[in-house]
Parts: sequence; C-alpha cells; structure tokens
Amino acid sequence: MLRLRDISHTYRTRKSGETHALGGVSFDARPGEVTAVIGPNGSGKSTMFGLVTGGLALQQGSVTLDGQPVGGARTGVVFQSPALDQYLSVFENLAYHAMLFGLRLKRSDLPAELIDGLDLADRLDTRVDELSGGFQRRVELAKALMTEPELLVLDEPFTGLDPAVRDGFFAMLEQATTSRGLVTLLVTHDLGMATRCARVVLLDSGRVAADARPSELLAGFGSTVVVIRGRELHGIEAQVREAKGPRTLRVADDALLLCDTSLRDVLKILDEHDPRIEDIEARRPSLDDYFVSVSGFHPQGGIQELEAA
Ligand code: ADP
Ligand code: MG
Repeated sequence: MLRLRDISHTYRTRKSGETHALGGVSFDARPGEVTAVIGPNGSGKSTMFGLVTGGLALQQGSVTLDGQPVGGARTGVVFQSPALDQYLSVFENLAYHAMLFGLRLKRSDLPAELIDGLDLADRLDTRVDELSGGFQRRVELAKALMTEPELLVLDEPFTGLDPAVRDGFFAMLEQATTSRGLVTLLVTHDLGMATRCARVVLLDSGRVAADARPSELLAGFGSTVVVIRGRELHGIEAQVREAKGPRTLRVADDALLLCDTSLRDVLKILDEHDPRIEDIEARRPSLDDYFVSVSGFHPQGGIQELEAA
C-alpha cells in the first residue's frame, strides 16, 4: 500500500515568492489497483508526482510504500513528455535504460511476457521515431515495467493518443497492475479514463477534495444518463418535471443532463410534446457528469438542479 500522509509543499522562487502547491494531502493507493489522480491545472498533481517519484524533496509529511520510505522502493515512471531516444531502436532504448540500473541487457534477457504483452516483439529493431505515438508510449511502459517495479507512476500518459490507442494503452496498464499486484498511480485530466480506474483522488488547490471509487461518486446517476441538446430547453425541463421523470441537471445553456433514466423513458416524455431538439445521446455516466454536477457550468452560479433525485 502506498500511503501519503499530510504532505505539504511550498515552492519559493525569486520571481513569484511563495506558492503553496500542496497543503496537507493524505490518501492511500492499493496494490493491484489503478488509482487516478485528477484535478484542474495548478491543483498540485505534478508536485505530488514529483514527491512520490523522488524528483522533488519532501518538505513535510511522509510517503511510504508498505511502511517504508518510498525512496527505497523500485519505482517505474512514465513521464508526460516522451523520454525515449528517438534515434535509437526500441531494443537499444530498453538496453540503455537497463544499463542505468547496472544491467547489461541481452535480447534473450527481455521478459517475453512483457514484450509480447505490449506487442513489441516485431518492433525491437525499429527506430523509435518510426513508431506511432501509441507504440512509443508502449515502449515507455515496457521501460517502466522492465525493472520489476512495485510502484508505477504515470503523468498524463494519454497525451496525444487517439481514443482507440488510449483505450488499448489503458487496458495494458490495468492488466499489468492487476497481474503484478502493482500500486499504480495515474495522473490524468482524462475523466473518461479516470472513470475506469479503481479509485480516484481529486486534488483541488493543493487539497484532496474527493477520494472514492468512481461508482461511489456516480451513485446517483444510475446506469444510463441522457443528454439533450437544443435551443429551447425550458419547455423540455418543464415536461420532464411534469412527467415526474428523471433528475434533470442544466449543464450548459444548450444542454440538459437527465440522470438515472433510460433513452426509452426520455423519448416517451419527449414524444408527447414534440419539442425542438438538436441532438440526444444516451450513455453510461462518467466523471465528467459528476464534475458538472458539483462544480456547475451555469454562469449564474452552479448547476440548476430542477428535480431532486
Ligand atoms: P498541476 O500539475 O495540477 O497542474 P502543479 O503541481 O504543477 O499542478 O502546480 C501546483 C502549483 O505550484 C501551481 O500554482 C504552480 O504554479 C506552482 N508550481 C509548480 N511548479 C513550480 C515551480 N517549479 N516553481 C514555482 N511554482 C511552481
Ligand atoms: Mg501537471
């Protein structure tokens, strides 16, 4: 178990003076689970990343893995910006990385299950700059996992990946985490991906604003939400209310979010009134929905909750 306790961090620079980046952050991340760390820009995610990976010196509080200071643990790191030598082949990048750990890596030393699992076997001699962005990320993951870490920490690893590649990369990450019993900390602003993690820790202004399973945060949303877009939504709001239908949140001037419902029920309500709709979408709730419901889009202060659940 990775345990952060009462972590505070202050940057001191000549230019901007003191910045309190983290103020009393505590949370746990369990082995075999991907824990997402999310939060708006400037909320302290990268600072937390630096403290866990040893890039930044701890000023206050403690970071331990199974009770020991995290500095002594084997940690795999995937940085936000690519950390591969573009002119070397995949194998050369892995071998060079192993060398930093004092290992002379022969091809036969490569863990087959890792290389096959990431589908890199046929690409070991390919120069990194000839690989797609998705494959470059896989090489980074291979690098991070090669040294058999107990802790894996990734900072925004999905940047620049298209959705299909991103989903595949996440699946590999999840698979590696469960099968190896890794403690995996995933810093991301991709709320769709965070929804798929075992746990999410939300940082806001250097503090933990939420620490829960996504299903706990989404408990009130049911298994399906329906989003309606259109110009004249007041009428629809009234209809839904009249029908004693789903809980309704106004999430933008031109969008309504109907929670805990089914497309069929919503269509039934709409059918009777024939309103002007531009677009309607039914999907599983994601953390995006949770955030609009707590932080609120509405310019006049918060989401307008029209019907309590
Ligand atoms: P995030 O990764 O969530 O965007 P950061 O941890 O990068 O947040 O930043 C948290 C706060 O600390 C911000 O106010 C940021 O401006 C400040 N900060 C981050 N790095 C430095 C630094 N090296 N020097 C001074 N201030 C910093
Ligand atoms: Mg950051």
